[in-house]
Amino acid sequence: MELAKLTCHELLDLIGAGKTSLEDIFDDLRKRIGQTDHKVRAYVRNSQTENADVCPEICAQSILKGIPVTIKDNICTEGLNTECCSRILSGFRPPYDATVIRKLKEAGASIFPVKANMDEFAFGSSTENSYFGPTRNPWDVKYVPGGSSGGSAAAVAADEAVWALGSDTGGSIRQPAAFCGVVGLKPTYGRVSRYGLIAFASSLDQIGPLTKDVRDSALLTNIIAGYDPRDSTSVDVEVPDYTGALVKDVKGLRVGIPKEYFVEGIDPEVKRTVEDAIQKLKDLGGICKEISLPHTRYAVPVYYIIATAEASSNLARFDGVQYGYRSLQDKAKTSLIEMYARTRGEGFGQEAKRRILLGTFALSHGYYDAYYLRALKVRTLIKRDFDDVFKDCDCVITPTSPTPAFKINERIEDPLKMYLSDLYTISANLAGIPGISIPCGFTKSGLPVGLQILAGSFREETLFRAAYTYEQSTPWHLQKPEL
Ligand code: GLN
Repeated sequence: MELAKLTCHELLDLIGAGKTSLEDIFDDLRKRIGQTDHKVRAYVRNSQTENADVCPEICAQSILKGIPVTIKDNICTEGLNTECCSRILSGFRPPYDATVIRKLKEAGASIFPVKANMDEFAFGSSTENSYFGPTRNPWDVKYVPGGSSGGSAAAVAADEAVWALGSDTGGSIRQPAAFCGVVGLKPTYGRVSRYGLIAFASSLDQIGPLTKDVRDSALLTNIIAGYDPRDSTSVDVEVPDYTGALVKDVKGLRVGIPKEYFVEGIDPEVKRTVEDAIQKLKDLGGICKEISLPHTRYAVPVYYIIATAEASSNLARFDGVQYGYRSLQDKAKTSLIEMYARTRGEGFGQEAKRRILLGTFALSHGYYDAYYLRALKVRTLIKRDFDDVFKDCDCVITPTSPTPAFKINERIEDPLKMYLSDLYTISANLAGIPGISIPCGFTKSGLPVGLQILAGSFREETLFRAAYTYEQSTPWHLQKPEL
């Protein structure tokens, strides 16, 4: 049996029936990584993937029975390197677990001992900005896997992980999920604790699952969601059992199709594939109607002001004193300020530097009102667009990304083109609402296309219901890349 190919819920059923063991699962996963990760490079390079040999304690009574979860390199794992794929954090081993890691361990999960690759500090849409080098798309290794959680998405798509956690600030779970043909959920802002997530943009960041199907997404969300007094932005709203929303029924579901998402810039194959998916939902009983989100066109500029402003402030702590990398200079000859400057100059990659500069500029005296404050006001308008729409729609459907995966090196020299990959995902972060990306077909050249479903705050159940119904009525999630 090829255990690495299975979902977590399938593995749990097999363990429950006494048909496999945790050792077998680990063996198979290790074998698979050995066969394919030199092509995909989903895992960070400085750790040894063979470490995955370590067989964890088996918690027969627990929910997850020791099944491993792959973790993005920006989520703190006690005693395991957590470096945000940045030189500046090299060698950083957190002395504590993020809340999501603690919850996973309490549910009986093993934390996979090698972290998933990502764009440095989650800055990017292609995983090319990693200090460890790029991850490749399992469907065609000449293409990017998306980003910034590209390692997590590629590991799941390539069956090098059972499931994984990523983080999403402007699309970093959903866009790589779409590019790699897996399921990615960004929960509502406040639904999942970010305690122990190394911050990129604190008013936008959320942790969420990347999985092989919608059932696993609901299972993993059940475990990580919930109020945490250690994260002042987490919200004390009861967590329902999300697997209860997995019903194959969208009859009467009111679905909004925003006209602003199907205009110039969308790839014709993506457009056609998503329109087919909308037709499918209609056939299944969904009531689809055109809606308008008039402030959509401001989402990318607003995001790149707010996100860089917050990032420049969050990254100020990396100074060579407390964490990771320090520039090796003759101490006697170097002043403290010089040491900071050299450390940051050598420790941060190009994109991180670009964002620190942009963000510092937007926050600086004389520009704050013109850029940052104005961006916050437009953010409110974007949020209001969604509030209005959700008065008479249960969910909104869009493509996850305007194009399928692009080639490695194609956009890396053109930041603006790269930033436009997030055109359809950013608004959900600005509005704080949940969004899921599920596979909805392939291009002629065999690259996956993602369908994004958005709902009102704390309405993850609506996402799961719509996503599950569509998934169970289509064959896309069953396709596997050949590696
Ligand atoms: N691609 C977007 C950016 O570069 C989003 C990244 C993210 O969600 N972490 O900012």
